[in-house]
Amino acid sequence: MREGIHPEYYQAKVVCNCGNEFVTGSTKEEIHVEICSKCHPFYTGQQKATSARGRIDKFNKKYGVNN
Ligand SMILES: [Zn+2]
Repeated sequence: MREGIHPEYYQAKVVCNCGNEFVTGSTKEEIHVEICSKCHPFYTGQQKATSARGRIDKFNKKYGVNN
């Protein structure tokens, strides 16, 4: 019997849909994700900027300063 020689923890390669790859500890050898810290709007700040712009647009329409 050869028990206890199986690795249960890998240096997993994580592959994102945006093409970014990074390594993390996991019980899987390879992981595919749809979003990562490089392309997530929260990290890039794009979503924040877009919603702020939308808020100003609403404000302008509400108070008729859009001309
Ligand atoms: Zn990504």
